[in-house]
Amino acid sequence: MARPVPKLSIVIPVYNEESVLPTLFARLYAALDALAVSYECVFVNDGSRDRSAALLREQFARRPRETRVVLFHANFGQHSAVMAGLAHARGEYVVTLDADLQNPPEEIGRILAKLEEGYDYVGTIRMQRQDRLWRRAFSRAINRLREWITPVRITDQGCMMRGYSRSIVEALNQTREVNTFIPALASLYAMRPVEIPIAHEERFAGASKYSMYSLIRLNFDLITGFSLVPLQFFSMVGMAISLLSAVLVVYLALQRLFFGPQVQGVFTLFGILFFLVGIALFGIGLLGEYVGRIYAQVRERPRYIIQAVLEADAGDERA
Ligand code: UDP
Ligand code: MG
Repeated sequence: MARPVPKLSIVIPVYNEESVLPTLFARLYAALDALAVSYECVFVNDGSRDRSAALLREQFARRPRETRVVLFHANFGQHSAVMAGLAHARGEYVVTLDADLQNPPEEIGRILAKLEEGYDYVGTIRMQRQDRLWRRAFSRAINRLREWITPVRITDQGCMMRGYSRSIVEALNQTREVNTFIPALASLYAMRPVEIPIAHEERFAGASKYSMYSLIRLNFDLITGFSLVPLQFFSMVGMAISLLSAVLVVYLALQRLFFGPQVQGVFTLFGILFFLVGIALFGIGLLGEYVGRIYAQVRERPRYIIQAVLEADAGDERA
């Protein structure tokens, strides 16, 4: 007996979420049972150091047919975990979700309905986003920048609760990019995208896994990962400055010839110099950002290392 491919796969990255998992299991499976479609939940444990892996094992023992658990060897980051989940998801449709219940599982049905209407990418816009003020201001600024310099057109980039059709998942699975931002990537692959407003709640328990630093890193993935505009903009600035300084050199030379040497204005000169050095340093950093990307890519290290996969006897799936 071949086990049929489920209609819906839910992919959830889990990193130190022991305080939310029991509630997540209760709400998620209840919401999915209510949808009356065949489904599977693919949890990816991203090297948690708490009891998350043990809780996932327990859930697998309780619902083996609807549960698969991918256990990472170490912490590889949220987007790598989602990538692994997508690679292990078999469903016709895939919905990604955060473990912390900021994305209410009860909303999955609405995403599924859109996918069944034939949309291949269902984006989401958070209504009344429940996050810290500085997080909201920060994402608003990045949203604007992203809209301006990348080809990615999504209204709300932050929410991971999204729906993907099989064709998009296959395209994502073929992508070998090391550091990426999945919703943005998927939106580029989509042929019939749609966005729907979605409820957003406060993190149920535990703390955000993102520090200011990792948030900045993640947003670099969004900007320099999808656009060359920063580099191109920089060469424009460089060109403008060298033109201006050429004019300045000619002016100073003429002054020297006709009015003799002068030493005033040294501090103005220092001011200009510091400014230019600042721009040059910024440019080197920006170059480094792109070179780092190339370096990470050419090393071709695996994006993640899997310790084990818990799944119901795979033999009967392919029979
Ligand atoms: N996460 C992960 N690996 C990480 C960081 C986070 O798998 O290194 C997971 C985390 O368990 C959660 C999701 O990614 O399911 C989003 O994390 P979080 O809620 O901390 O982010 P925020 O909502 O603050 O953006
Ligand atoms: Mg969260």
